[in-house]
Amino acid sequence: MNALAATSRNFRQASRLLGLDSKLQKCLLIPFREIKVECTTPKDDGTLVTYVGFRVQHDNARGPMKGGIRYHPEVEPDEVNALAQLMTWKTAVANIPYGGAKGGIGCNPGDLSISELERLTRVFTQKIHDLIGIHTDVPAPDMGTNAQTMAWILDEYSKFHGYSPAVVTGKPIDLGGSLGRDAATGRGVLFATEALLNEYGKSIAGQRFVVQGFGNVGSWAAQLISEQGGKVIAVSDITGAIKNSQGIDIPNLLKHVKESHGVKGFSGADSIDPNSVLVEDCDILIPAALGGVINRDNAKDIKAKFIIEAANHPTDPEADEILAKKGVVILPDIYANSGGVTVSYFEWVQNIQGFMWDEEKVNTELKTYMTRGLKDVKEMCNTHNCDLRMGAFTLGVNRVARATVLRGWEA
Ligand code: GLU
Repeated sequence: MNALAATSRNFRQASRLLGLDSKLQKCLLIPFREIKVECTTPKDDGTLVTYVGFRVQHDNARGPMKGGIRYHPEVEPDEVNALAQLMTWKTAVANIPYGGAKGGIGCNPGDLSISELERLTRVFTQKIHDLIGIHTDVPAPDMGTNAQTMAWILDEYSKFHGYSPAVVTGKPIDLGGSLGRDAATGRGVLFATEALLNEYGKSIAGQRFVVQGFGNVGSWAAQLISEQGGKVIAVSDITGAIKNSQGIDIPNLLKHVKESHGVKGFSGADSIDPNSVLVEDCDILIPAALGGVINRDNAKDIKAKFIIEAANHPTDPEADEILAKKGVVILPDIYANSGGVTVSYFEWVQNIQGFMWDEEKVNTELKTYMTRGLKDVKEMCNTHNCDLRMGAFTLGVNRVARATVLRGWEA
């Protein structure tokens, strides 16, 4: 199912459980604003290339719109729309004072040189600078972008509006970035997993994990989980998949990935078929890459007892149904990966206050937010007699609906 159809279906199901009327549903579902821009920039050899850039600002009832900017060949309007909508529910679940947005450029960043990436980012910023801002829309990194990308956006934005570090989060520390932001999504995944396992009287130590995707989120999650005694038995990325039933030595794997730009060829594990990684025998599966990877074709073969959605919308609604019948517990994306945007919020707060927190404070606050988040989600599960995905959706949608009604949407 297409990402937008899947996300909107989850929204409608939550709206029904909440008893929201159809007019309010429509108002919440349709994006506040969709931006599509042409970005033409010279390659290093002087030839011109045109890319299409997007920013979907989904909702601002609870505060400035917030969400990442993705550089990936699969960036297209429906996907960006779905991701922007997910951000609206995610910031509400995390209970941080933001709405939701997402942006991106349809490109393959691996094919571009650093100077080509910089020029493309600056052209994109020139096209959207008057629609973003500290109190309107605050971008952050996502797949294919990083702290350097944010530094270029900040610099380009500042040429038009003056220096305002809080206009983006996930910045380099030297430009007002927050300590702990780089690891935050992965650390949030760790805290979310701990909180969930706690409900079952279990802990991370001794559990067997599979991590699909070894970018910023997957690699931090794997590292932090292994530090807590979790056994990461299989990992995959775009270069391949590897397995070691005794547990992969994650610090060594990280060294290998730094040198070889991928997990392929790591001597401490066997190479396996990348398509089989999601259905490997394990206790906990962590999809940490693209959306839609768990679908009706592979859901029946999944052996994990728990799925922690570090990626955005990795599980198709059809797979949700199959997995529910098998008794698999899924910790949904809008809660499980909210650690990144939560620490983005801390970064924005620090910038506005002009006061830098130490890393321990960032991590302690993040743990508080993640622990409280699961408690809030579980409360909605009890009220509406639903699974964790619907618990999270009803929690997020209800908070946004309440803010919308309070602000007077009918006037
Ligand atoms: N791109 C991240 C996400 O999908 C972080 C967004 C942010 O920090 O604004 O949640």
